[in-house]
Amino acid sequence: MNMEGEASTVGWARWGTTADAKALPGSASTLLAQVLELTPPPPAVPLAEATVPDLELDDTVLHALRRVLGAEHVVTAPAARARHASGMSTPDLLRHRSGEVRVAPQAVLRPADHAEVLSVLDLCSRHRVAVVPFGGGTSVVGGLTPSAARHVAVDLSRLNAVVAVDPVSRTATLQAGLRAPRAAELLAEHGFTLGHVPQSYEYATIGGFAATRSSGQASAGYGRFDDMVVALTVATPRGTVRAGRAPASAAGPDLRQLFLGSEGALGVITDVTVRIRPLPMQSHHEGWRFESFADGLHAVRRLAQDGPRPTVLRLSDEVETMIGATGSGHAEGGCQLIVGYDGADVVPTVEAAADVLAAHGGVPLGEAPGHQWARHRFDAPYLRDALLDAGAFAETLETATYWSALPEVHDRVRQAILDALPDGALVLSHVSHVYETGASLYFTVICSPGSDPVERWRNAKTAASDAIAATGATISHHHGVGADHRAWYAAEIGDVAVDLLRAVKQQLDPAGILNPGILVP
Ligand SMILES: Cc1cc2nc3c(=O)[nH]c(=O)nc-3n(C[C@H](O)[C@H](O)[C@H](O)COP(=O)(O)OP(=O)(O)OC[C@H]3O[C@@H](n4cnc5c(N)ncnc54)[C@H](O)[C@@H]3O)c2cc1C
Repeated sequence: MNMEGEASTVGWARWGTTADAKALPGSASTLLAQVLELTPPPPAVPLAEATVPDLELDDTVLHALRRVLGAEHVVTAPAARARHASGMSTPDLLRHRSGEVRVAPQAVLRPADHAEVLSVLDLCSRHRVAVVPFGGGTSVVGGLTPSAARHVAVDLSRLNAVVAVDPVSRTATLQAGLRAPRAAELLAEHGFTLGHVPQSYEYATIGGFAATRSSGQASAGYGRFDDMVVALTVATPRGTVRAGRAPASAAGPDLRQLFLGSEGALGVITDVTVRIRPLPMQSHHEGWRFESFADGLHAVRRLAQDGPRPTVLRLSDEVETMIGATGSGHAEGGCQLIVGYDGADVVPTVEAAADVLAAHGGVPLGEAPGHQWARHRFDAPYLRDALLDAGAFAETLETATYWSALPEVHDRVRQAILDALPDGALVLSHVSHVYETGASLYFTVICSPGSDPVERWRNAKTAASDAIAATGATISHHHGVGADHRAWYAAEIGDVAVDLLRAVKQQLDPAGILNPGILVP
């Protein structure tokens, strides 16, 4: 494949270029070859060659949209439509690799500001055209593929400014389409950081973080994204909602919470005011080893509940430790914990946390594993590319539950996945977001693709989701609901809450144009 062809599959059929592809760690690839039957797949179809469904939007609507946005910001080119057709789950990437785009937006709209978003929503409501807000396009739960074939994507990439920084209150107002690295760069110019560093950092946007209640690798110290949101502005088909106007308020229910996690089904978030923190003067990462996942969980819980609270806490189970450590020579056996600290002077916290970890059976591994983790913290999506290139299937899922239930949820979800993939799978897991009352569990599944990998995964994911529901855990800690988790979400919240959500949507979006089939059951 030529470079141009390859570049055009980035962000569509793969996370990075093949030049960026990371080698699988140490002898992990040998291990994979022993466990799985791998046949390298055919090369990915470049984006430029993808076939999209025919245009059905009538000229009246297209003309009206062009009048509002300017002709160059109403894009109907097949490549743009294909790129905005879905997110970046492994089934999305596999479909894209085959050049298959069954549902695509009729046009990609690029509004310049809040007023243009409002105009688009008004126009689309009148013409009954569905609207999908598109941030970085990194959804892994089908959040960008609505049930309505006749839809447009509202790409927020032109809303990419820092609107205001208030260094006294330590808040910043950021436009929704700002990508995380650019937001970090612009805030750093003022000496601040958001501290939100999810694995999807390179592409994902501020609006996407708010719309999906994202959580980053440093959530132990900086909190989840929804913890950071002070206020937000939302364009709805009924007009503008601005939620949040003080650091805390007793003026009725907190309407910010209605839009955090609303996944484009209730409105388009156009800006978000977030709490910011001074750039850390010091940053320190180190590794610890525990005899078992249960021992590690106990130690991590002590830190989460009684402190001191590090910035990063990431405990791998035995299988993830084994795969991750293959070739790295760090935690041999047992479970590895990565602990990170950001701050003006981290030494007292590092020492106090070390006492707690040691008292609970932790063995210090020094800074090397911490450095290695920090250096490779964004590698996972590139490794997924490498696995797909090698003919393996790799995908992730996640949940959260209370501490008392965590070991059971870990074991039952893991077993459900293994049972659904009886010819062999590697199931790796870690805890990386902790709270006083519980934590998230993140699973990575690597298996052979079989003849229909998308269907095979659908079955395994259903088994895992059923197991999550059966244990009483939540269907998502940070990926969101999208289309994929909708049935489990409905069961999780119950009939009365489903009706409540539908009623809110009916009020804000009477024509039902916003992300139909996503989130709202
Ligand atoms: C490799 C990989 C790693 C990931 N790691 C993490 C992680 O560590 N933590 C984490 O939390 N998530 C992670 N995710 C999931 C994903 O990145 C998050 O859901 C992210 O918050 C989505 O941001 P985005 O800008 O890409 O939104 P999109 O993918 O573009 O959109 C996500 C959903 O939100 C809606 N939406 C987007 N922008 C707006 C807006 N302005 N207003 C209203 N609705 C909007 C969309 O319609 C869609 O339903 C990962 C995904 C991938 C592919």
